[in-house]
Amino acid sequence: CGIIGILGSTPVAPRLVEALKRLEYRGYDSAGVAALENGAIGRRRAAGKLANLETELAASPLPGVSGIGHTRWATHGAPTTGNAHPHATDKVAIVHNGIIENFRPLREELIKAGHSFASETDSEVIAHLITEYLNKGQSPEQAAIAAVRRLEGAFGIAVLFAGQDDILIGARKGSPLAVGIGDGEMYLGSDAIAVSPFTTRVMFLEEGDIAVLSRAKVKVLDANGMVAERQVHTFAGGA
Ligand code: GLU
Repeated sequence: CGIIGILGSTPVAPRLVEALKRLEYRGYDSAGVAALENGAIGRRRAAGKLANLETELAASPLPGVSGIGHTRWATHGAPTTGNAHPHATDKVAIVHNGIIENFRPLREELIKAGHSFASETDSEVIAHLITEYLNKGQSPEQAAIAAVRRLEGAFGIAVLFAGQDDILIGARKGSPLAVGIGDGEMYLGSDAIAVSPFTTRVMFLEEGDIAVLSRAKVKVLDANGMVAERQVHTFAGGA
C-alpha cells in the first residue's frame, strides 16, 4: 500500500517510520522496515498500527543508514506479522504494492530451485526471483531487471541489496512510484508525500520504468530498457 526507500546518511529506521506515518491516510493492516546493518539485511515488522512497529523498534533497534519500509493492505495472506513486508532472503529485501498475478507458477519454480518461502503473500516471490538471478552471477541491476520482466500484474517495488550500501532499485507497473532527490541522499516513495519529510525535488516514474538509485545519481530505464530522462518537479514547502 505505502512504500518508502532511503539511501541516507543518518540512522534510517526512524526516518522510514516517519515517512510511513505520512502514508497512513491510505489505510493499512501491518507495517515493516528493513535496513543494512554492516551489509546484512535486518528487518522489523508488526501487525496492526505503526505504533506496534515503533514498539518493536524500541525493543530491538535497527541500525543502518539505508533501508526500505512498507505499510501493507493485504490482498494475499492474512494481515499477520509474518506476511508483513519487507520480504527478504539473505541477499535482498523487497517491499511491494499491488498484486503479482503469476505468483503461483513462479513460487513452484523457485521451490523446485531450492528456495523456501516464509509467507503466504504473492509478494515474496519477488525477493526469491531476484535472489535466483543474483545466484546465477547477475549484478543487482541485471537481477532486478530480469525478475521484473517475469512479473505479471500490478506493482510498485523497492529493492534493497545485502552488501550494497549505495544501491536501491525501484520498479513500477500499474502502481505509482516516485524518486526523491536529496543532497547526498536518494529516496523512493509510493507518492510525493512519502518523501516530503526529506526533499522537495521529486521525479515520477512512468509505466514500466526501473530506477537504479545511488546517493549521487538516478538512472531510469524505460519499459524497453533504454535510459530515459524524467522531469524533476520541485514542490513548495516540504518538511
Ligand atoms: N499483494 C501484496 C500483499 O498482499 C501487497 C499488498 C499491498 O499493496 O499493500 O502482501
